[in-house]
Amino acid sequence: MYYDIVIVGAGPAGLTAAIYARRASKSVLVLEAKAWGGQIINTPDIENYPVVAHISGADFANDLYKQATALGAEVKLEKVIGLEDLGKSKKVRSNLAEYEAGAVILATGSENRKLGVDREQELTGRGVSYCATCDGNFFRKRDVAVVGGGNTALEDALYLSELANKVYLIHRRDSFRGEEATVARLREKENVEFVYNANVTALLGDKRLSGIEVTDKLSGARRSIEVKGLFVAVGRIPENEGFRELIELDASGYAVAGENCRTRVPGVFVAGDNRTKEVRQLVTAAADGAVAATEAVKFLNA
Ligand code: NAP
Repeated sequence: MYYDIVIVGAGPAGLTAAIYARRASKSVLVLEAKAWGGQIINTPDIENYPVVAHISGADFANDLYKQATALGAEVKLEKVIGLEDLGKSKKVRSNLAEYEAGAVILATGSENRKLGVDREQELTGRGVSYCATCDGNFFRKRDVAVVGGGNTALEDALYLSELANKVYLIHRRDSFRGEEATVARLREKENVEFVYNANVTALLGDKRLSGIEVTDKLSGARRSIEVKGLFVAVGRIPENEGFRELIELDASGYAVAGENCRTRVPGVFVAGDNRTKEVRQLVTAAADGAVAATEAVKFLNA
């Protein structure tokens, strides 16, 4: 089956690309391995998207999906397992089918980085979580910890402070990578304790998490903290591995492309969090989608 543009990934970048490509009258297939919406569906409250002062990530994703499909983009839940450059066209192989495309936009985003501490996998779903909005409710009136210093950790801690009895925010440095405005709001919360310069070095508990061991990086002192939940928010890993043979990846695995979203392969574009860039935000993912689709349309019409 031939499509003008096959988009891999139905997050904000991929679905925005679909909107732009459909508005340019191109046939569009979006292939998504998990659930459409991307990582933004886990954000409780988006406050930094222009014009929309507040919207949940799930509502944002729903509205975007509706907009793209209403314009005629097809979205299929299939995992892309291969991409081949045939010259004039590209072959996209999924777990279920094969497609030919005039151009391909890789908008695969990223997945959760693991903390890398013993028993992390065993206790995932038993107290260890990577998604505060999905699992926070299980920890109502309990003590929990969040580890990380980026916007995800800060927003998770803020969200959990409304549900949990107490939130420990554990960061390996003494200043945060995330927005100062969110840090300021956290400082006002009486049930949030900041634990700086600290690493989570052990997960405690038998069948379920009952606490964590935290080691102070400066003094080496260890401390046990009783928590029922540990929310890991230590960043993300770009999902580009399947395309390593074709496009150039940097040392961290991001697809190398400039602001025009073009990769080294003519007709293959990259958009959103899996691209090399300085700022990874919802608004920049959407912007990439618009640019990649516009460039893909130019490529097809050349
Ligand atoms: P991030 O910005 O990469 O931050 C990851 C944090 O985890 C950093 O503070 C890092 O510490 C820490 N970390 C990394 N590996 C660690 C380890 N092994 N042990 C302990 N700590 C570790 O990731 P993110 O917070 O998931 O955000 C990803 C992107 O999405 C960012 O660009 C962010 O701004 C964006 N985002 C935006 C919104 C929004 O627009 N509302 C919401 C969420 C996320 P160091 O600081 O020491 O490196």
